[in-house]
Amino acid sequence: MTDTQFQYIDGEWRDGDSDDELTIRDPAAPDDPIVSFTGASRGQAADAVAAAEAASGTWAATTPDERDAVMYAVADRIDDHHAELAETLTREEGKPLSSSRAEVGRAAELFRFFASFARTAAGETLPSSDPETVTYTVREPLGVVALVTPWNFPIATPTWKLAAAVATGNTVVFKPSSETPMIARALVEHLEAAGLPAGVVNLVVGSGSTVGDEILTDDRIDGVSFTGSTDVGRHIAETVAGRGIPTQTEMGGKNPQVVLPDADIQKAADAAAAGAFGLTGQACTATSRLIVHEEVLAELTDAVVARAEDMQTGPGMDDPDMGPAVSAAQDETNFRYIEVAEDEGATRLTGGGRPDGRGDDAGYFVEPTVFTDVTSDMRIAQEEVFGPVLSILSVSNFEEAVRVANDVEYGLSASLFTSDMASARRFTDEIDAGVVKINGTTTGSQIQMPFGGMKASSSETQKELGHRAYEFYTHKKAVYRTDP
Ligand code: NAD
Repeated sequence: MTDTQFQYIDGEWRDGDSDDELTIRDPAAPDDPIVSFTGASRGQAADAVAAAEAASGTWAATTPDERDAVMYAVADRIDDHHAELAETLTREEGKPLSSSRAEVGRAAELFRFFASFARTAAGETLPSSDPETVTYTVREPLGVVALVTPWNFPIATPTWKLAAAVATGNTVVFKPSSETPMIARALVEHLEAAGLPAGVVNLVVGSGSTVGDEILTDDRIDGVSFTGSTDVGRHIAETVAGRGIPTQTEMGGKNPQVVLPDADIQKAADAAAAGAFGLTGQACTATSRLIVHEEVLAELTDAVVARAEDMQTGPGMDDPDMGPAVSAAQDETNFRYIEVAEDEGATRLTGGGRPDGRGDDAGYFVEPTVFTDVTSDMRIAQEEVFGPVLSILSVSNFEEAVRVANDVEYGLSASLFTSDMASARRFTDEIDAGVVKINGTTTGSQIQMPFGGMKASSSETQKELGHRAYEFYTHKKAVYRTDP
């Protein structure tokens, strides 16, 4: 593999052969490109699907022991190359080095967790109404699955799809975000070195609207798992709808943290700041709305602003509290929404500019930004920014808090700070969110817990992560066997 080879098709590394030239930049120093290469063409995407289809029968017929062994070998390789992988991730995505280290460590854990699917993605035997007939279910791989992923958790998200798919006997065409192809390539290199046979996982890097479209419209694809923005997810769902294949789309969020007067205010402020500004607000579960009871509004607001102003922002390689935005496009979005909030009449309490007097050409940095006097009808309270911009909304009771929290199209993650367990139970019942936290940040998830949203945040096809994630990647057959 040379520096410019990002396409891995049927066990071979190739240069792209489209007209699409891609340049990867360090978001903390975008003037010095890290690498330039050619994206895959539609023809190469079709080759990747063909390779996955050709490998499909053989891989599905491997024993659980063989599949589980590869998963464990990849996990060990990720551990052995932990530091180098974390640096690759930070260089192209920009997140602080300690966040990249945590994400790489999680990728290894994910391979070990999903390895168990090779042995446990089982059917069940059920009591039969007919004594002559044995009734049971079996699970079989879907066949070839397309995995389309975003840049913000560029090793963890592909891994939780890919490991679940491969462990259950599927073959894969993996299309990562063009913002983060280096970590995607490194992941696939480790799969290859761990002994995964040619064709089982194929990597194509290139534009979503050409390469992505070519893969998704190919009749040989048997399932699609997508994570990314709601607009693209809906487009993908429409593209494949006619074929009726299993399609999972996990999408955007506008996640609320609600704070009641009986909460521990300092803990609530710490959680809001961590959820809003950690990872530069570039988490699908980032806290973007702080919905606060008016009795504690002043105290909580002061504490959150103090936390925002304490945050150190800088290049991810220096391991600050907050790195830059991933790209020029996200940088532009951040500043556009800051302007939108001001035009709508929100009051900016802190942030809104470049930190430390940096110029526009010195990295995609933005200060942690807090707006108050935000009302639910404002765009800043409705639309996903995907940057470190927190809106504070004041409410006068629990009912209003839940109404405001639910008053968005999204429903990914939500949190409540309270010391009253009756309020906690009501919130759990009434909130429209796929992930509910009581006295915790909206961000963060555990591997063994199912993960996914509601409403415009998810197709709700099947939750990702958790011990039942294999259901998405397998057909279930009901068998009635009567002896002759
Ligand atoms: P995006 O939707 O722009 O891109 C996601 C992927 O889709 C990329 O690989 C992209 O190349 C591909 N793509 C784009 N257009 C396509 C097309 N027409 N056909 C096929 N593929 C296409 O998202 P992004 O900017 O990479 O990531 C940020 C978004 O992801 C945010 O909205 C965030 O909330 C969301 N996200 C959601 C979750 C979740 O689990 N719900 C997790 C992480 C990120």
